[in-house]
Amino acid sequence: MTETVKSEVRSFDAEVHQLLSLMVNALYSNREIFLRELVSNASDACDRLRFAALTDESLKGLDQDLAIDISLDETAGTLTIRDNGIGMNREEVIENIGTIARSGTRRFLESLSGDRRKDAQLIGQFGVGFYSAFVVADSVTLETRKAGDTADAGIRWTSDGQGEYTLDSAQRPEQGTEITLTFKEDHRDLLNPHAIRRIIERYSNHIAFPIRLAGEEETDTVNDSQALWARPKSELGEDDYTGFYTSLTGDPEKPLSWAHHHVEGSQQYSLLLYVPGRAPFDLMVNRDEREGLKLYIQRVFIMDAAEELLPRYLRFMRGVVDASDLPLNVSREILQESELLDRIRQTVIKRSLDMLEKLAGEESEWDRFWEQFGPVLKEGVVEDPANQERLAALLRFDSTRDGESRISLDDYIAGMAEDEDTIWYLTADNLKAARSSPHLESFRKNGTEVLLLTDRIDEWLTAHLGEYKGKQLRSVSRGRLETDEKESFSEDDRKLAGRVKKALDERVGDVRPSSRLTESPSCAVVDESALSLQMQKMLRQAGQEVPENKPDMEINPTHPLVRRLASETDDKHFAELAHLLLDQALLAEGGELADPAAYVRRVNDLLVRTLDS
Ligand code: ADP
Repeated sequence: MTETVKSEVRSFDAEVHQLLSLMVNALYSNREIFLRELVSNASDACDRLRFAALTDESLKGLDQDLAIDISLDETAGTLTIRDNGIGMNREEVIENIGTIARSGTRRFLESLSGDRRKDAQLIGQFGVGFYSAFVVADSVTLETRKAGDTADAGIRWTSDGQGEYTLDSAQRPEQGTEITLTFKEDHRDLLNPHAIRRIIERYSNHIAFPIRLAGEEETDTVNDSQALWARPKSELGEDDYTGFYTSLTGDPEKPLSWAHHHVEGSQQYSLLLYVPGRAPFDLMVNRDEREGLKLYIQRVFIMDAAEELLPRYLRFMRGVVDASDLPLNVSREILQESELLDRIRQTVIKRSLDMLEKLAGEESEWDRFWEQFGPVLKEGVVEDPANQERLAALLRFDSTRDGESRISLDDYIAGMAEDEDTIWYLTADNLKAARSSPHLESFRKNGTEVLLLTDRIDEWLTAHLGEYKGKQLRSVSRGRLETDEKESFSEDDRKLAGRVKKALDERVGDVRPSSRLTESPSCAVVDESALSLQMQKMLRQAGQEVPENKPDMEINPTHPLVRRLASETDDKHFAELAHLLLDQALLAEGGELADPAAYVRRVNDLLVRTLDS
C-alpha cells in the first residue's frame, strides 16, 4: 500500500496571502533575488543533512555529493532547482511552506516602508525567502522527500499563490527538494542560461556546495564552491571578500571592513569577521536574536553561534569561525563549556576591537559606523569592564564645541585647560533640549566644554564610566558646583532661598542661590549619588517603581523674576511663584510634572493678575 495521502487542498495562512501580494509588488524591480533565496534554502538543506549525518547512523553516506542543480525549459517557461539535502516530510511542508511560523515575518510585514528598494533589501533578512518565487512565477510546484524516509514518502506541493495550495503524495527515489517555477510571461526573459548564470555569480557565488546549471550539451558548475574562509589570504581580493559577505548575510551593501585570520598553533581555527555598513532595522529592539556568526567545524556548518562567540555589544558583527579541533557532533551545551570556544571568543572580541579601532582612525568611516551602531557599542562600556578603556576611546559625543562633528573623550581632554580634571556632560532627550538646558549657562560663560548625551543608553554609560584617563566624568546637573562654594552669596539671597524652600516644602530637597545660571531663573539639580531626572523618567516609562527622589533647586538671584519674588510680601502669591519656578526648572530638564494641571492653573492665575493690573 503506497497510496497513503489523497490529494488535499488547503488554504494558506491569512498572513501568507497578504505577504505574497505585498512581496510581489515590493520586489517587482528586484525580481532576481528569488533565485538567491531558493539557492540559499537549498544550501541550508544540504548543510542540515551533513550535520544530521554526523550523529544519525541511518543517514550515513547520504551526505555525499551534495549539490544544487538548476535546469531551464524555455519552451515550457519553467525553471527547476533541485537539491539532495535534508528534504521535508508532510508535516514539515505544511509547517514551513504553508504557514508562517516565524515571528520574523510579522516584523517584516510591519517594517515594509513602501520604498521598493529598501523593502527588497529587507527580504533577505527575514524568513520569507521561499515565497519570493511568486515574484516571477504564477505557479510553483515543490516536490520533496526527507532523507532517511522511503521513496514513496515523497510530497508534492503546488500553488498559484492565490490563497490555496494542493498536497499530493509523490514517488521520490532521491532525497531532497525539487522546485519548479512556471514563469509569468513578462519574466520569461530571465529563462536563459546566460541570465541565470549571471544571477548566480552575482548573488550565490560563495555558496559552499556546487551549483550546477544544465546546458544544452553539458552541465557546468557555476559558482566557486570552496569555503572562502579556508583559503589563504594571499589568494583573495576585495571582490572575494565583499561577494562572500553578501552571500553570507543577504546584505547587498558593502561591509565597512573585514579581517581574515588563520590562527595556527596548538589549536587551529580560521576567523573571518565583517563590520557591516548598515544595521538591520531591529538591531536595538532585538537584543537577543543574534545570527551574526556561523560556526563551522572542518568546513561543516554546525550552528549560528553568535551567542556563544560574541558579546551582546558586538552583535552587529558578521562572519564565520571554522575550528578544526572541536568534535563534529558538538552540542550547544558542550560548546558553552568548551575551553577552546572560550579562547576563540576572546580572540573574536580582540580582533573585532582591533577592526573598530582601525575604522575609528578614519573619521568619515567611523561617522558612518557610529550613526548605525554607536548606541550598541556603548553597551560594551557597561558590560565589558575588561575592555572598558578601549571601548571608551571609541565613543563619540556631541558637544557644546562649535561645529557639527562629534568628538571623542580624547578630543575633549585635548581641549581642556591644564589644571582641569573634570569631563563635563549633560544628558537630555534630544540635542535641542540639551543645547537649551539652563545647566549649560555658566559653562558657556566660562568657556567650558560640555558633552551632550542624548541616547537612551547614556545614563547607564555614565553610571559605569566614572573616569577616563584619570579625568572624572561629571554631570552638569548633579551636585554643587565648586564655584558656588567659593562664591559668597549675600545674607538676603540665602534668606530668600530659605523662604522658597519653606513654600515648596515637600517638593524639593534643598533650595540654594547659585552662580550656575545666567539667563534662567532656576534649575533642578540632583545629588551626585541620586538617580538623575532623566533616568527616573526612563525607568518610570519602562513601568518601574522609582523611589521618590526630590531634586534640589538652585535659583539665580540676579534674575528679574527672582528679584520680584524677593519683594513679594503676600505669602500666597509668593508660594505660587515659587512653585512656578520649580515647575519651569523641571520642564526645562525635559522632566515630567507630577501635577501638570496645577502648573497650568498657576500660569493662568498669574496671567490674569498681570493682565488685570
Ligand atoms: P527561511 O529559509 O528564511 O526559513 P523560507 O520561506 O525560505 O524561509 O523557508 C521556510 C522553511 O522551509 C525553511 O526554514 C526550511 O525549513 C524549509 N525549506 C525551504 N526550502 C527548503 C529546501 N530546499 N529543503 C528543505 N527545507 C526547505
